[in-house]
Amino acid sequence: MKADRPPERPPGFVYRSDKRLFRKPEPTLYAEQVSLAKLAERYGTPLYVYSATAIRERYREFDGAFKGSEHTICYSVKANSNLTILRLLARQGAGFDIVSGGELHRVLEISHKAAARTVFSGVGKLAAEMDLALHTGILMFNVESASELELLAARAAHLRKRARFAIRANPDVTAETHPYISTGLHEHKFGVPWRGVWELYRRGDSARYLQAAGVSVHIGSQITEVAPFREAMERVASLVRSLRTDKHDIRYVDAGGGLGIFYEQDNDSPFSKLAKQYAKALLASLKPLGVHLLLEPGRAIVGPAGVLLTRVIYRKRNDGKQFVVVDAAMTDLLRPSLYDAYHEIVPVVLRSNAGAREEVDVVGPVCETGDFFARGRQLHAVEEGDLLAILDAGAYGMALASNYNTRRRPAEVLVDGTRVRLVRRRESIRDLLAPERT
Ligand SMILES: *Cc1c(COP(=O)(O)O)cnc(C)c1O
Repeated sequence: MKADRPPERPPGFVYRSDKRLFRKPEPTLYAEQVSLAKLAERYGTPLYVYSATAIRERYREFDGAFKGSEHTICYSVKANSNLTILRLLARQGAGFDIVSGGELHRVLEISHKAAARTVFSGVGKLAAEMDLALHTGILMFNVESASELELLAARAAHLRKRARFAIRANPDVTAETHPYISTGLHEHKFGVPWRGVWELYRRGDSARYLQAAGVSVHIGSQITEVAPFREAMERVASLVRSLRTDKHDIRYVDAGGGLGIFYEQDNDSPFSKLAKQYAKALLASLKPLGVHLLLEPGRAIVGPAGVLLTRVIYRKRNDGKQFVVVDAAMTDLLRPSLYDAYHEIVPVVLRSNAGAREEVDVVGPVCETGDFFARGRQLHAVEEGDLLAILDAGAYGMALASNYNTRRRPAEVLVDGTRVRLVRRRESIRDLLAPERT
């Protein structure tokens, strides 16, 4: 029986049997101390539910892995940009990695102090976004091209604001991940090819208001092996040495983000272990340099700390195929459609009379064949009206949500022990139509 128990994600999401309420309680999935069935009743579905304890714990484990080395964690805002989650992380001491002026506005909304621990990445920074970041006094700009460097020098001179910069160098390492989220090869749009890097540092350091301060890389996302990180850092370390020889004052190495999570597996290998291996791989070549390390994790911090709750609307059979139609769609969680990504799907209530597992496609209501959460998946038998939880939806879930098919984006709830907070209300149709004219 135990073997057939669906996967859990402690400390955020575990099955509990509340014996105070029922003599023979059916195990129900809880977010910390709160039943997901109760949350669905109160806030409706589809609903994102996050665990504050899980976020804090993963942050601390990641941070702890770098204990003894000077470092700052710049949480990648794009993974999950909810203001309450940003504030929770800022309170843990986090800085931020932003990729737009909009994300900087979010950071400023929750903490001006954290803005000073913020780095600005991205291949297409606009002058107005640079100006906002220059006025804010962020920690560093990760520059991705000669033209960007030129514009940054001009904006900084115009505003008479000094700016620290790093060149995002492309280490040309292969990371085993989905082609859409692999970024560290020369054919990708990110970063500057290795051989062109020195020239940019020279130009940058000769600009009056610019100051070379770091080297940055980001080799991709959802990387679950540490070898590519080690390889990239070896290249970075030799680059830092060479730049220092050229009299550039390189104090920071921004190692980017990209550490993956295990979507397809029960939580038997603790995150703290992977985080330690990751830290060791990075520090192997960086430690001797005495640089201040910047880290930009996104998914690794928030991914397993969130689920998407959805209700089964219909069951239908087309010839031999069984479909479970749920009220969440690709508009709420795009990863399966975009990357063919795998997410565990588990019943919220484990009914004792539930039938055997069956093979189904779990699909949403949107008019696209690509609107699915699972195909040909063995799931616990479900009935119309049942609740399902799609696990590991805390990163790149709500952040990628859209209004396609004029669907309202889901509400978001943060649970902390017994405490429940609605951290984003469900959109209304009025919200959606407001910018338009008839
Ligand atoms: C997306 C991104 C990250 C975060 O990636 P994760 O895989 O979520 O850790 C960090 N840095 C940069 C530059 C990014 O583009």
